[in-house]
Amino acid sequence: MKIWTTASGYTITRVIGGRCNVYLLSNGGKHILVDTNLSRYRHTLVRSLETLKIDRLDALVLTHTHFDHVENAAFIQKQYSAQVIVHVSEAEYLRRGNTPLPSGTILPTKILTSLISKRVQSHFAYEPCRADIQADDGFSLRSFGFNARLMHTPGQSCGMMSLIVENEIAFVGDAMMGVYPNSIFVPFAEDASQLVRSWGKLLDTECTLFLPGHGSPVGRVLVEKCYRRRVSQ
Ligand SMILES: [Zn+2]
Repeated sequence: MKIWTTASGYTITRVIGGRCNVYLLSNGGKHILVDTNLSRYRHTLVRSLETLKIDRLDALVLTHTHFDHVENAAFIQKQYSAQVIVHVSEAEYLRRGNTPLPSGTILPTKILTSLISKRVQSHFAYEPCRADIQADDGFSLRSFGFNARLMHTPGQSCGMMSLIVENEIAFVGDAMMGVYPNSIFVPFAEDASQLVRSWGKLLDTECTLFLPGHGSPVGRVLVEKCYRRRVSQ
């Protein structure tokens, strides 16, 4: 498992990595999980937490409610007594267990999403989960024992949130991706120009490392480059 440490000693562990990332933010005995992956990886998630000797989580932050991030949310809430935190605009999707999928932003994904009918959408339904906290921009995680705050970074989904830790490292969900070389753009988004504005918002922090929901960590230089390229178009 890949581990990062912040200047003041918080640890970040990538509990599941690769196609769909799950991260654990720890400060001593306090733990926050970020996203949950697909239900078919539930045993991997449980095993990884077991290896880390974690049987209780203080909170589960959902960057957004697309199925590939929330399929284990209800399970984590129950099994680890985690307080589930989600953006206020997606709490109802989570309660229903069904979140509309975003449209394509490039030709192949535009064609793909135009072929996906409403009926197919139901295949992406997941186990419903009640949000304990419906958060919005600026929500502080101080009461959970962390110098961290949530930032509303919409675009890929309406309620996308990034978790800014000590103004140093940000968990960004699908506000950007670490999948393609020299690009952080996401192939699906509800509003692509809003997505780019969210990059600007993330660059207003002093964060140097951005941990995406999919793929490898992204450095600040690449975010700046992609942001400049998009705003000058
Ligand atoms: Zn995703």
